[in-house]
Amino acid sequence: MLEQNVIAIDGPSGSGKSTVAKIVASNLGYLYIDTGSMFRAIGLGLLNLGADLDSDVDVESKLHNLRLEYRGEKDSLILLNGDNVTNSIREHHVSDAASKISQYSCVREQLKIYQRALAEKNICVLEGRDIGTVVFPGAKLKIFLTASNEIRAKRRHDDLLTRGALGTLTLEKIQDDIISRDTRDSNRDLAPLKAAEDAILINTDTLSIDEVVSKISNLSKDKF
Ligand code: C5P
Repeated sequence: MLEQNVIAIDGPSGSGKSTVAKIVASNLGYLYIDTGSMFRAIGLGLLNLGADLDSDVDVESKLHNLRLEYRGEKDSLILLNGDNVTNSIREHHVSDAASKISQYSCVREQLKIYQRALAEKNICVLEGRDIGTVVFPGAKLKIFLTASNEIRAKRRHDDLLTRGALGTLTLEKIQDDIISRDTRDSNRDLAPLKAAEDAILINTDTLSIDEVVSKISNLSKDKF
């Protein structure tokens, strides 16, 4: 298979993908691409349009109203129909919307084309669920990050707290939501969350961010 100038970092929510991918990209001078933010933006846009997220027909009929623009250079800005939705896509209810609409081929195909186009001109670090399996099966380096449910929920909880977006959510509710989202992501027919056969598995439970970053940076040496 043709090799692609990409570091693919896949894994479930709260495994540490975003934090680590961002630092690795910045250290190596590569473009950081957060593919989850694209599914979130589409989910948010469809919610705003009043789409029935359980209906593939309704989702497909409204999808063409949404224009996405990802700017990975500085703060990974994501624009939806020209509006900056970088912060609003992080709200808790948008996670569920993103997971629901991510099962539809019309959404996945559109985003796959967009992600491949973004990576054409740059060496990229992409994070998501299907980067090493579907979007860039020839990625030169594939990483699959995991962590226990408890640790992942705690990270998500602390992240919402830091951003002042915790509201009335409890740790227990966050953990339940993470588990049901992962179950849906892992069991969907199209591009399910799973490690590519040639991915390197890293469990981040007991590793610091720096340790994970340095593991990936070492693995990427001599590859690009
Ligand atoms: O990574 P993040 O939690 O922001 O992703 C939100 C949702 O988008 C995931 O739960 C998943 O359903 C979907 N997603 C996906 N494929 C990707 C990235 C995200 O299906 N490559």
